[in-house]
Amino acid sequence: MPSSTVSYTAQNGTREPGLMHRSLLERPHQVVSGSGIYLTLADGSRIIDGCGGAAVAVIGHGNKEVKEAIIQQYSDVAYVHTMTYTTSSAEELANELTELSKPFGLTKAFFVCSGSEAMDATMKLARQYHFENGQLQRTKFVSRRQAYHGGTIGAMSVSSNLPRKIPYEGALLLDNVSYVSPAYAYHGQKDNETEDQYAARLVQELDDEFQRQGPETVIAFVAETVGGATAACITPPRGYFAGVRKVCDKYGILLILDEVMCGSGRMGTYFAFEPEGDVRPDLLTLGKGLGGGYAPIAGILISQRVVDVLAKGSASFVHGQTYQAHPAGCAAALAVQRVLKREDLVAKCHTKGAFLEKRLRSALGDAKYVGEIRGRGFFWGIEYVQDRASKRPFKPEVKFHKRIHAAAHDRGLAIYPGAGTIDGINGDHSILAPPLTATEEELEEMVRLLKEAYDAVEEELGS
Ligand code: PLP
Repeated sequence: MPSSTVSYTAQNGTREPGLMHRSLLERPHQVVSGSGIYLTLADGSRIIDGCGGAAVAVIGHGNKEVKEAIIQQYSDVAYVHTMTYTTSSAEELANELTELSKPFGLTKAFFVCSGSEAMDATMKLARQYHFENGQLQRTKFVSRRQAYHGGTIGAMSVSSNLPRKIPYEGALLLDNVSYVSPAYAYHGQKDNETEDQYAARLVQELDDEFQRQGPETVIAFVAETVGGATAACITPPRGYFAGVRKVCDKYGILLILDEVMCGSGRMGTYFAFEPEGDVRPDLLTLGKGLGGGYAPIAGILISQRVVDVLAKGSASFVHGQTYQAHPAGCAAALAVQRVLKREDLVAKCHTKGAFLEKRLRSALGDAKYVGEIRGRGFFWGIEYVQDRASKRPFKPEVKFHKRIHAAAHDRGLAIYPGAGTIDGINGDHSILAPPLTATEEELEEMVRLLKEAYDAVEEELGS
């Protein structure tokens, strides 16, 4: 009989582990292999990776073509320093990505090892853009509440994942950041407001914030195109980002879109901003799905506008990291891009995403504690509330998201748990972000297991 206890301890032997895990109280389950949507644990049990880790495994596990590409790169050369040298993997990866992004004005790529580093690099690049542009007084960033941009000092400074941020606030994080409301219709849109009116109100709030800060002092506005880890797939209201773009342009403020989680095809278009109308970010970050988990790699796509300003100034990006554009990471990501392209996985994600949505809504749409199901493609968030009518969340101590996470694991399904905090309100959610290779039958099985897990938790809580 599976038990869905809130904190579960993996049985990885009795020896005190030398590896410091995030929680000193819980030990993660050891995975011994992965294939397609499946992970196999040390005890032999099989788990469906319904969230691709953390929306990472975009083409599933154990892809031989990617493995071969990495081995080939290691056989050729494992490392070169980018100050003097480059590799065909890095150059071809940049070409593949900019081929997709050029229609949106993003013409150059820069590679690092994680989404957090990518965010830090965009922040530095944005600052350098204004510096080279002769606008030295610009020192501030505006971001959104409910955002997560990473764990490094810069990325955490523009984030609002409070549990991760509060211990370091004060001396450690940047204080030149202010926040506006997220585009979070479920909690933010008023009853008497249309989608267009809601979008216009959010854009006006951003304009007001720029005015409050002094628009000539603001370097950039930073936003996840679709809010991920702390908000669970919150898609913006129609017209929001087009409006944001206009307000940024009004003041010469750069627009940084963070697509570390929602990008790389997961939402049925390669870039999540594509359906948002005339948006064109100045800088865009990619991460997780870029290397699909086969190597730690993330990237920035840079607009010609930024490149032009740099070209007139120092002609170089002052930022440098030892492992930028690491050959093995680039080889892995290049192979992942080729699989995505050859198998037409992004377009298929769009179609199969509609199937997934239908299944999710029919399984959980009317469930007692399900407040909202939202997302697109293969990126779906389920927000849980104690009371659907008032949208009242569970008390944090209920740890609803952890209960669902554990219950799903016990049934052989991995989902991504989260608890966002919006304006002091706790929100429990799960993210389903399967590999884009998942078949309809596999998607159906994921939803079936998730529903079973949900039912178990509902029963556990009683009435
Ligand atoms: N940006 C977003 C939207 C993310 O979801 C994350 C990670 O969850 C990051 C940035 C940071 O990426 P990483 O964990 O690879 O540093």
